[in-house]
Amino acid sequence: MRQTNIFDFLIESFTDNISNVEDTRKQRTNLVYSLKDIILSAFSVFYFQNKSCLSFQRDIDTRKGISNAQTMFGISDIPSDNHIRNMLDKITPNSFKKVYEIILVKLRDIGILDKFYFKDDYMLVALDGTHYHSSKNISCKCCQSKTNSDTGEVHYYHSVITPTIVHPDIKKVIPLMQEFISNNDGKDKQDCEVNASKRWLDSFNNPTNKKLIILGDDLYSREPMIKKVLDKSHSYIFVAKPTSHKYLYEQIEMIKNLNTIDTKIISKMINGKKQIFTYNYINNLAIKNPQGDTQHPPQEVNWCEVIVTNATGKKLYHNSFVTDISLNVNNVIDIATAGRSRWKIENENNNTLKTKGYHLDHNFGHGKENLSKTLCSLNILAFLFHTVQELDDDLYMELRDNIGNREEFFVGINFLTTMFNFKSFNKMLEYILIARQTEENVDMKGYIM
Ligand SMILES: [Zn+2]
Repeated sequence: MRQTNIFDFLIESFTDNISNVEDTRKQRTNLVYSLKDIILSAFSVFYFQNKSCLSFQRDIDTRKGISNAQTMFGISDIPSDNHIRNMLDKITPNSFKKVYEIILVKLRDIGILDKFYFKDDYMLVALDGTHYHSSKNISCKCCQSKTNSDTGEVHYYHSVITPTIVHPDIKKVIPLMQEFISNNDGKDKQDCEVNASKRWLDSFNNPTNKKLIILGDDLYSREPMIKKVLDKSHSYIFVAKPTSHKYLYEQIEMIKNLNTIDTKIISKMINGKKQIFTYNYINNLAIKNPQGDTQHPPQEVNWCEVIVTNATGKKLYHNSFVTDISLNVNNVIDIATAGRSRWKIENENNNTLKTKGYHLDHNFGHGKENLSKTLCSLNILAFLFHTVQELDDDLYMELRDNIGNREEFFVGINFLTTMFNFKSFNKMLEYILIARQTEENVDMKGYIM
């Protein structure tokens, strides 16, 4: 078993980070609750994926004078839910940026990121926006809004860019610091996904010596975004659909008609059935019509498509990408495969955050200023903690393997933490594992307080 425990490292890093968050309360003496207690209390709700987690810990604290909130998260006093919401409303999610960065550096240092490097020289980062709040009644100063032109009814919503490190061969993804699509006071123009992604590119500190390949859907394959990515010295692989790239596909059609297109075809057995993968590619195309402007030629892109058919010729999959990476017979499969791994941000990241316990789109409180965003950031941070544990914590991994189902794992830890006060998070994991692996009753004495 490892000597250094990653959960303790994560909590310590987070606690250190909180000590640098500005406390806006005017009178700082005799404060009942520290910012640390307030932020970690909110975080523990997301970490345990249990809305009632704090009320159970308050009960244990009343009975025993101590609770899992203290032994696991270092929370001295658990504030009321209202107090947590009021305080978090004044804190911006950017306060947590540093902890995301520290964790990424740690993942680099302990060799976890090595597994995510793509073809040795690259790291794939997928960008995607997702809605997490939608309401006709609840709004804050950061909400975006749409007004129905017929009824005049206003619809409020929040969206966030959730950048994610992906790898075609790894199911897990690593969430990075998010960027909110958010309106600021005094700005009439609504913010948008592409602008938020550009801000994220400006703010991201890459702790590795690998070049980033930014992955994005069709929304991203436009000249301004491409130029931004290249300005930052990254590469890109963006989906490029014919419906939104008329001029690009006129050039492609011309080359296809001349039968001069480069092609690579391979076949693979997938689940016992033969599939044929056809990769077509063309370098040096114009992303848009130059419109006679010889002074400013349009951005050049390299294009490829992958068409998957079964043995009878039925089309199973078709997608097209543009990239700055020069395509050839040796790399076109890798580039298309990297482009296809973009779906993991939707499936393994955003879908997990919404449907697998994290309830990203559930309203935990909206606030007037930042609350909705701050809670969203803490929720994604909880997902990052679990991801890191799934990647590096031997005990956690063994237990997750033993239990198998994510839901049962959380039901189990929630049941135990509402009943008993464990000496530490790890003691709880050790206890569950031993209890599941031995037939005799396990004495809890060494594990609980
Ligand atoms: Zn809002």
